Amino acid sequence: MHAKKLVCFKCGKEFPANSRIFWCSKCGYSLDVEYHYSEIKNLVEREEFLRAPVKHWKYWMFYPVQDLQKVVSMHEGGTALIKSRHFKDYWFKFEGVNPTGSFKDRGSTIEITKAIENCEKEVLCASTGNMGASIAAYSARAGIKASIFVPEFASSEKIRQIKAYGASVTKVKGTYDHALELTKKIFEKKGTYLTGDYYYRAEGQKSVGFEIIDQLNWESPENIVCPVGNGTLLFAVFKACKEFAKVGLLKSMPRIYGVQATGCNPIKKAKVLPVKNPKTEASAIDCGNPVYGLEVLKAIKESKGQIAAVSDKEMAKSMKSLASEGIFAELSGAASLAGALKLGLKGKTACIVSGHGLKESKSYY
Ligand SMILES: *Cc1c(COP(=O)(O)O)cnc(C)c1O
Ligand SMILES: [Zn+2]
Repeated sequence: MHAKKLVCFKCGKEFPANSRIFWCSKCGYSLDVEYHYSEIKNLVEREEFLRAPVKHWKYWMFYPVQDLQKVVSMHEGGTALIKSRHFKDYWFKFEGVNPTGSFKDRGSTIEITKAIENCEKEVLCASTGNMGASIAAYSARAGIKASIFVPEFASSEKIRQIKAYGASVTKVKGTYDHALELTKKIFEKKGTYLTGDYYYRAEGQKSVGFEIIDQLNWESPENIVCPVGNGTLLFAVFKACKEFAKVGLLKSMPRIYGVQATGCNPIKKAKVLPVKNPKTEASAIDCGNPVYGLEVLKAIKESKGQIAAVSDKEMAKSMKSLASEGIFAELSGAASLAGALKLGLKGKTACIVSGHGLKESKSYY
């Protein structure tokens, strides 16, 4: 393993790489994994690495996993980067074709592998639906129990999917934040292993960024556009680009853009202002108090990107546009294209289409 240590993103407190902790013990904020990049550089400077087929575990040296024999995987990632027919220089990274229908599988393969390394028998997860379905599937694969907590607005399709994998589902009154609080309470009482928007997930979701660069022949697009719920995906993509730059695989950084729903847009230009009663049909980005808010601000500032908000109607329009090119996305998954168009992005632009249209039954057109 090439992970060096865990560092609090906010106060800088450090912890050993293999601690069983989920946030900073001093200030409570989220942690970030640091690596020995010189070791990684030696591994990736080879022709075999550069030419190997694009898939999630190709980039294993950038993940905090100790024993590759114990990995719990379902061949997540390796998704196509599809050139748009309608929009010049736009590309779609279609994450709906992952094993459970969203990019969450890239994070879950790391989280559940770490749970297995730790000999955990049970995991908890608060989710608007997709992460819960993903954790349920990988837990089933690993033979451990998963308890998923969803807000009432979670789609019946996502709940059906979670149950199908054999996980327990609890509907929590209120928003995603209430579901998250509940899992933290259970953790404090019983110590059950937490999965969700914590650092292991962010580490796994970096592969969306790794793959985009790899698929463009080790060149960065000018822009990468991500839907933003808790912000873990956006931060992961930013971190992936930074790490590729650190080990000499990338010359120039892309600008990173985040897209929220107008009814749930807690991240402003320079700070995070939590939204108490979010209102959007885009359930996967319905997170009023983003766990990775500060990380998103940093990524946007450093990469010279922007944060935008689009209405549900604009997302529905982009959903239709994508479908007319053969890509069926869920509403949140179409936020990236809607945001790119609203911002008028020019030049090579990769829009992350984060989830599959079969995840929701409501028809928007
Ligand atoms: C989870 C999810 C998002 C939001 O990702 P964050 O990491 O929470 O910002 C967007 N779209 C879909 C389909 C998702 O499942
Ligand atoms: Zn801290």
